[in-house]
Amino acid sequence: MSLFSVVSDPGAFMELYQPLKVDGVELVVLMSVVLGYLGILALLGAVLPGQTIAGTLLADKTRVYYKCNGLASLVVMLAGLGIAIKFDYISPTIIADRGGKMCTATFVLCLMMSVWLTLRGYFTKENSESLKSHATGNIIEDWWLGVQLNPNFLGLDLKFFWIRAGMMGWLLIDFSVAAKQYIEQGSLSPSMALFQLFCTLYIFDYFWHEEYMTSTWDIIAENFGFMLIFGDLVFIPFTFSIQAWWLLSHSVDITPTAAAMNVLVFLIGFAVFRSANTQKHKFKQDPKVKIWGKPAKAIGGRLLVSGCWGISRHCNYLGDILVAFSFSLPCGISDFSRPCSSPVPYFYPTYLFILLLWRERRDEARCSTKYKELWKEYCKAVPWRIFPYIY
Ligand code: NDP
Repeated sequence: MSLFSVVSDPGAFMELYQPLKVDGVELVVLMSVVLGYLGILALLGAVLPGQTIAGTLLADKTRVYYKCNGLASLVVMLAGLGIAIKFDYISPTIIADRGGKMCTATFVLCLMMSVWLTLRGYFTKENSESLKSHATGNIIEDWWLGVQLNPNFLGLDLKFFWIRAGMMGWLLIDFSVAAKQYIEQGSLSPSMALFQLFCTLYIFDYFWHEEYMTSTWDIIAENFGFMLIFGDLVFIPFTFSIQAWWLLSHSVDITPTAAAMNVLVFLIGFAVFRSANTQKHKFKQDPKVKIWGKPAKAIGGRLLVSGCWGISRHCNYLGDILVAFSFSLPCGISDFSRPCSSPVPYFYPTYLFILLLWRERRDEARCSTKYKELWKEYCKAVPWRIFPYIY
């Protein structure tokens, strides 16, 4: 189905909408499944050991503390699911068989959660930076961007937990779709295997370095509203896995050279992404840390100019965009020769490219206000925003 037919023909649009359609009883059942998943994850997070990391210093000099045991939770969750599948308690294709319906149920849950959190934020009597109301008075804006910075439920920091649930959900969806292909077609296609390999490495790496999340923009700067609630639990898992869904019904002849190039793009992107984020994280912990074998250089002792941060001001975004592109390459690029025949598997890199370009502008404005002259000096020393010598 082409992009044009979806826009011009309501029938074609309805065809796309069909998999998302779910009746009342099914909706309640699927929402219970998602709630069950969240409940188990919260329980694992509470009981499994993990390092406690202090979050950024907030305006009122308080901090949020995060228990970083996402990797342990993921391993236990996968082991539990593996056992349940082995003994036929659940089907490995449980998600893949009803992905659209699951997406709708998760969406409804997120919608309810965002309304509840907006109301809770409006009526809160708390006055800490984390929990006080940051309401603007514009209901739509408050609902979309959130009213409280770090709302919690029974002691669980919801913002940190939600990202964990979304990233893990992404992996579970990928695995379920892979299982469906394996069961229906007798093997995994090379393209599916490549996509699965890259995503699995990326997601495990995410949880291995979960503590780095505690200093990211979402955690330190954004209130917890519909944008993040939906973004983390619906958008990330259901759209970042689009390539896997697409590969279920499309076969791609990927040559060994194309596969090797694909692996190379992933490795380069991943190395840049991981080193940039690690360098900044380590520098924040210890400004004298060694980067690429030399003591870190910083402007005013606060803005790192060594390593990746001396190449472009958001080299981590460059790495992430390359990785995102590598996730889609297994779906082939030849389809672009037929206009609009399938932009679908390239949704993630396109989205990420636009998001990170926009986010870089917002971060730049924030840093320029925060660091003032130091930021100007940094921009002079490192003129490139994301792509060295291009942008
Ligand atoms: P960053 O991790 O780049 O954090 C930006 C902050 O880092 C700034 O606000 C500033 O905060 C600090 N900073 C900036 N430059 C320097 C410097 N030179 N030296 C020291 N500190 C500096 O941004 P994000 O949180 O947006 O992204 C984190 C990762 O998450 C990225 O790799 C990004 O690609 C990825 N990401 C992925 C998304 C996806 O959908 N896949 C979506 C969004 C992000 P401070 O006030 O602490 O100094």
